[in-house]
Amino acid sequence: RRTEVPKSEHGIDPSLVDERAVKVVRTLTDAGYEAYIVGGAVRDLLLGLRPKDFDVATNATPEQVKALFRRAFIIGRRFRIVHVVFGRGRDHEVIEVSTFRAYLDAAAAEQVQGNEKTSKSQIADKSHVVDASGRVLRDNVWGPQIEDAARRDFTINAMYYDPQREIVVDYHGGIADAKKRLLRMIGDPQTRYREDPVRIIRVVRFAAKLGFEIEPRTREPIRRMAHLLDNVPASRLFDEMIKLLQTGHALASMQELRKQGLHRGVFPILDVVLDEQQKHDGREKFVQLALADTDRRVAEDKPVAPSFMLACMLWHDVLDGWQRHQARGEPAFQALGVAIDEVFNARIGDISGRGKLAADMREIWMMQPRFERRIGNGPFTLVEQPRFRAGFDFLRLRADAGEVDAALARWWEEFSQADEAGRRSLMDAAR
Ligand code: ATP
Ligand code: MG
Repeated sequence: RRTEVPKSEHGIDPSLVDERAVKVVRTLTDAGYEAYIVGGAVRDLLLGLRPKDFDVATNATPEQVKALFRRAFIIGRRFRIVHVVFGRGRDHEVIEVSTFRAYLDAAAAEQVQGNEKTSKSQIADKSHVVDASGRVLRDNVWGPQIEDAARRDFTINAMYYDPQREIVVDYHGGIADAKKRLLRMIGDPQTRYREDPVRIIRVVRFAAKLGFEIEPRTREPIRRMAHLLDNVPASRLFDEMIKLLQTGHALASMQELRKQGLHRGVFPILDVVLDEQQKHDGREKFVQLALADTDRRVAEDKPVAPSFMLACMLWHDVLDGWQRHQARGEPAFQALGVAIDEVFNARIGDISGRGKLAADMREIWMMQPRFERRIGNGPFTLVEQPRFRAGFDFLRLRADAGEVDAALARWWEEFSQADEAGRRSLMDAAR
């Protein structure tokens, strides 16, 4: 049932609403379409938080949206949306505009598919595709707002805010759940986890980020259905994991994952953190320090680079491979390069489209052996590298975890701050 909630009840502070999101809504409604701020932004506004990004939902198709804005790009295949871009450079901002989607249950989805088996080529021209286990592979069938709400994950993520009339449209009791601080799946939780197992991770992420309870029916199937995550492409898990690490509650999220029994195998990159057996070999310490560091940066409103966090999460995988290849007699740098390739293949899946991220991670790792070679011109060129700071921060975490000598990290700290003469004498002292 559709409820329009007035300001007296939702209490959203308009000053927390991004002007550009309002502008997108206004442009769309002026053109005769329906448009609302939607999803996580409405949830955060209701909780009095300033949303990090704003999504807009509309009944205009991607082509119709694109036609209304000067800088708008249709992106995505699995889920086609429009990016409306404002500003340039550091200050630029993207408002994501998505068209209301129909909610198709398994039976309706099959009709759309025409009961055919899905081969790759058939997927290419289908607007909605479901695999044998009921997982939604493609979701581009437009529908009314009521169905758009029903296909969202949690009640608190399924509200629409009209910034002009200052009303919230709520179909699933999201406002009540937000007040009760409850995460409740819309519809039958089991069915919804089967459609998209990534929701299992999302529920943990939101519980950690918001400090909400997971409603019992929503929590009950999690452990039992966790194995479905095996069928999710590594690249999608990877995206969800980056978000999980950026909640500002990365450590708490890890604990919550463990509490929900989402242990080994479910989340390969995190095995190292979640595996009790590795507690004593220093890995746990390194990753814990990295997560704590990340959480502190988020709390201080400093940026956290996904490349840095991921370089931390995967470091011991890389180290293992590096040692293995060196033991076979490969030269150190070459062995490290090979180990990095192997880790990318195993953990991230297809890294196309992640070129920059992967390159940054590689650079941080490849710098590590160079920190140990304090001879000749090495340190002078290393310190001038644009990514020196990230590589050095990484070295310092390793030192804090007891993996390298703390004196080495201190030496580099001094070296990076010293003038030419100071650097020369530090070089002499290092001999
Ligand atoms: P955050 O603030 O962390 O970005 P969010 O709620 O905005 O949280 P997004 O991943 O940005 O999360 O997704 C935006 C919205 O899209 C969600 O609020 C939800 O309504 C819907 N959504 C996203 N992923 C799913 C999913 N796997 N299943 C159902 N709905 C989803
Ligand atoms: Mg979001």
